[in-house]
Amino acid sequence: MNIYGLTFSQLEKYLLQTGEKPSKAPFIYKGLYQQQVDSLLELPAIRQSLKEKLHAVFTMEQPRLLAQTESADTVKFLFALQDNSLIEAVLMRQNYGNSLCISSQVGCNMACAFCQSGRFKKVRSLQPEELVTQVLFIQKHLQLKISNIVLMGIGEPFDNYDNVMRFLEIVQHPHGLALGPRHITVSTCGLVPQILQYAAHPAHGLLAISLHAPDDETRSRLMTINRRYPVAQLMDAARTCIRQTGKKVMLEYVMLQGINDHPWQAQLLADLIGTDDFHVNLIPYNETQNLGFTQSSRERILAFYDILKKNKITVTMRREFGSSVKAACGQLRADYEQSSKPENR
Ligand code: SF4
Repeated sequence: MNIYGLTFSQLEKYLLQTGEKPSKAPFIYKGLYQQQVDSLLELPAIRQSLKEKLHAVFTMEQPRLLAQTESADTVKFLFALQDNSLIEAVLMRQNYGNSLCISSQVGCNMACAFCQSGRFKKVRSLQPEELVTQVLFIQKHLQLKISNIVLMGIGEPFDNYDNVMRFLEIVQHPHGLALGPRHITVSTCGLVPQILQYAAHPAHGLLAISLHAPDDETRSRLMTINRRYPVAQLMDAARTCIRQTGKKVMLEYVMLQGINDHPWQAQLLADLIGTDDFHVNLIPYNETQNLGFTQSSRERILAFYDILKKNKITVTMRREFGSSVKAACGQLRADYEQSSKPENR
């Protein structure tokens, strides 16, 4: 069993059940997450016999780095897991710290029309340790501290709900990475039952919803999930989340030329939001191969932005991270698989 998959209370329980003092758990967690030891035999402040016992029972496997591409403010990683499944993570150097976007599944079943990852069907969901070790590996590899985690890479986090919530417990624990709930964002394409569960969970972080259209007709064309949970139902769940957590909800909106960037859609979005505590993030589309979408022109993005602003909506335009490092989800993996084909070697 991989030790990075244990929540703090699971570790305490293991110690108790094996005749050890649960009071050793903080020292073990600090060794794993704050000192990031390479071997359980190196855990500080733990007696030798317990270190050997842990070493005999637990593994510390981390993902294998296959490829890394960099630009000034972005580093993209392609990892292989133990079963050789491929996942991606992207580090973004922001002015408020290092933000890491991680994957939650191998492939994705949500089939959003504009997304490269939607082309790779879900193979499996990631275990908590496979989520945790993406963070730990990159921290150690680049010798930096991750200050924000975003679950916005490959996969739908709420289609892997239990493992994602265990991950949140581990990284939020004061003896673990000690990240506060405002430093972790889970992004969903709109699974309404899980949004409501998340809002009521003690380890919730922030919530981001990939909205991408305010009308059901456009959204159903872009995102098949909208046929199950239409816009009105999704916005109701988001409002419940705002009420229960006391935190604003981000609405992600990828700008697609001629599809979802019309002025009437900006007005409809403003009407949908009203005075509720949402934050709209307009994202220039990162054009990937053969998906048939183009990035909205700067003029259209600015016109959309202005309408939201005039309606007193909190709105930002995200910098276009990573187009030079293949940061559209699934793009690095697609390139790697293409170049690894025998005919391309
Ligand atoms: S946008 Fe997200 S939910 Fe949709 S297919 Fe891509 S990875 Fe899956």
